[in-house]
Amino acid sequence: MGAEALRLLVVSTPVGALGSGRGGGVELTLASLVAGLLERGHHLTVLAADGSRLPAGCERARLWSCPGVDQPSWQHQRRDSPVVMPAQALLPRLWQRAVGSQAGFDALINLAYDWLPFWLTPQLHTPLLHLVSMGSVAEVMDAVIADVARWDQRRLAFHTRAQADDFELSEAPVLVGNGFDLEAYGFCAAPEPLLGWVGRIAPEKGLEDAARAAALLGRRLAVWGLVEDPAYAAAVEAAVPAGTVDWRGFLPTSELQAELGRCAALLNTPKWNEAFGNVVVEAMACGVPVVAYRRGGPGELVQPGINGLLVPPDDVPALAAAVADAEGLDRQSCRAWVERTCSRAAFAERLERWLLSALGRSPA
Ligand code: UDP
Repeated sequence: MGAEALRLLVVSTPVGALGSGRGGGVELTLASLVAGLLERGHHLTVLAADGSRLPAGCERARLWSCPGVDQPSWQHQRRDSPVVMPAQALLPRLWQRAVGSQAGFDALINLAYDWLPFWLTPQLHTPLLHLVSMGSVAEVMDAVIADVARWDQRRLAFHTRAQADDFELSEAPVLVGNGFDLEAYGFCAAPEPLLGWVGRIAPEKGLEDAARAAALLGRRLAVWGLVEDPAYAAAVEAAVPAGTVDWRGFLPTSELQAELGRCAALLNTPKWNEAFGNVVVEAMACGVPVVAYRRGGPGELVQPGINGLLVPPDDVPALAAAVADAEGLDRQSCRAWVERTCSRAAFAERLERWLLSALGRSPA
């Protein structure tokens, strides 16, 4: 480790316990962040919902938990929605514990996309930093994030430029990407003639486009992910010939990667400005080329001709037409790109640089 050891409190999402999958990509981000910073010699405490389990690689962290009711996810509300606080809510309990314990830490790192922790930022004695997990989805969140940026933008980090561009910032954003434990993803050189899709089954993820592209090609689409919106899943199923969508359910990473590697290509079709796109990198780590819309994080992660192909957003025929070319790409070069760019160690180094700069401890 190049820096003095920091005592860090990482506050998780108030949507679901760690390990439930309800927190979406934030669960994987937390695992990489905690394991990566532990490897660099820092001291980590994780504060999360009751029922949480520390992910693999994070065993040396301390786990604190609180009971409480989940926060409604911002991405499923209207842009002009007010801040909502359910009775017995988990979010204020997490922050009551974090604020009360702040003196024992050098910094607090918030991974939740919620108004309360952003609003609290200037009120705390211990620096509170935020790794912002989504692009713009609500006016009240845009405003509170802009307030923090105006007060001290070093407190904010983003996953990709496309995500950061959604917000009103005063300086160039800190971009940290994301990190993956690449040993957990086996490279598969010989796939089956199977198309894949991975994500929460919810409208912003655009599964219907991938299903329609598979139907145009007369191919089967294996789908892995948590069904967040059963009515939406049923509508996708009804829109394509029976048997097109092969529902595989939600799997833990260890099982998901083994299945994912067998795909000839992954389709990634978000309708929103995806902040990063973990599943894009996870597929590439298994050697699977990705066909994605030129939009949001996936539009930055896919390097056309190297690890996949990009097509115009929402253009289903173009998506279908790109599959054959994507299947012809070198699967080793997909894996190699991930190793260069998205390892957990590289992510932890970027995070450490951000932390030291925000705490005013950067080497000259
Ligand atoms: N995921 C998983 N098992 C599944 C499907 C998805 O563990 O069967 C995880 C996947 O590894 C990824 C996350 O769910 O880390 C989805 O993250 P992403 O950034 O793609 O989207 P988000 O849900 O955060 O919008």
